[in-house]
Amino acid sequence: MQIGVSTAQSPLVSEPPLVSPALRIPLLAPSPPRLSALGGALEEIEHSGHFSNFGPVNTRFEAEIITKMFRGTGSCVTVANATLGLMLAVKQATGWRPHGKYALMPSFTFTATAQAALWCGLTPLFCDIDRDTWLPDAASEEALLRQYGDDIAVIMPNATYGNCLDVDRYDRLSRDTGVPLVIDAAAGLGSVQMNGDAFGRGSTAPMVFSMHATKCFATGEGGLIYCNDPARIAALRRMAGFGLDTARVTVMPGINAKLSEVSALQALEKLREIGPIAKRRFALQRLYARLLPGFTFQSMTGRQSGLQFASLLLPSHLAPQRANILDALARLGIGGGHYFSPHLAEHPFFRETCISGRLEVTQEVSERMVSLPLSDSLTESQVRQICASFIRICRDA
Ligand SMILES: *Cc1c(COP(=O)(O)O)cnc(C)c1O
Repeated sequence: MQIGVSTAQSPLVSEPPLVSPALRIPLLAPSPPRLSALGGALEEIEHSGHFSNFGPVNTRFEAEIITKMFRGTGSCVTVANATLGLMLAVKQATGWRPHGKYALMPSFTFTATAQAALWCGLTPLFCDIDRDTWLPDAASEEALLRQYGDDIAVIMPNATYGNCLDVDRYDRLSRDTGVPLVIDAAAGLGSVQMNGDAFGRGSTAPMVFSMHATKCFATGEGGLIYCNDPARIAALRRMAGFGLDTARVTVMPGINAKLSEVSALQALEKLREIGPIAKRRFALQRLYARLLPGFTFQSMTGRQSGLQFASLLLPSHLAPQRANILDALARLGIGGGHYFSPHLAEHPFFRETCISGRLEVTQEVSERMVSLPLSDSLTESQVRQICASFIRICRDA
């Protein structure tokens, strides 16, 4: 999420803070590694003279995430944020001049997926989602692939709220149709597949992960492109460094998408703690599901999702009351929201620039969606309080 993250001491960005300081239990409470506790490592960066350009700390992070999270399989390159990562991966996958073609993606995703495609000269083409998993719907994708054929330049599924996509099915779909694949796995660092692997382990298609402050794998700004194809990662690394080769001549499309050494240090620290953090956040979401049996929760396709917030659907008859319900929660000091509602096809800019297939399920799910607090500091007893309040407010609504 691009959300203004501000703390009492330091307003960081110009976007309005979503987390109101008046809230006792905020929707999100970013907890990136504490720079103030990294004095020695920060001094090392200062002395090394390397501040960016895939320096030693970044190199260490890339190596450690491959060995620790992906158990030695695959390659990766860091990026300054996942949006730039998506732009690079789409550009690399589709070639230099795919203008006028379509990027097939769900309407139920974050703005960045569509913006990245538009920056690559593509037109987002929105498909529907599955009613239970809230992942892109296979039948909807396949119908649009048949309808638009060669005019589709790239398939861009989103791993909704970190829920695991069937990467093998997408690989087959990409092979059968000849359309390249770029996976928006932004929330998925911390997600675990049914087979116990980190989400995406071994994927031949690029998986783009975010390390934004509001994600489960929270730093400040940062991203990672992972895939089991070292040549593709090498090309993406050159593209992230202006498209320059080792002789410092421009050999391909490029941009500056490099992660700074200080950000890489935060990523390295987060990697050390991500296991228990992701596990705990997921356990809290399961507690919500147990305490709110009258509401609809996402069907899990993996063993664990890297969660940013807790998500549930209101019963249909309460959907029109959503704003009132969230206001009532806020009055009790409890933050709430509704990601990704409005869905992309409803955003003014995307209405003018994108096209859609049928979006019945997307429409219904997004109208009923409610996001509830989740953070590293949230306690079980707070979840119980939130649920008791939520049930009472919904009953009175
Ligand atoms: C957070 C998010 C992004 C953008 O990630 P940044 O690192 O903030 O650029 C893209 N897609 C989805 C689905 C996201 O949730």
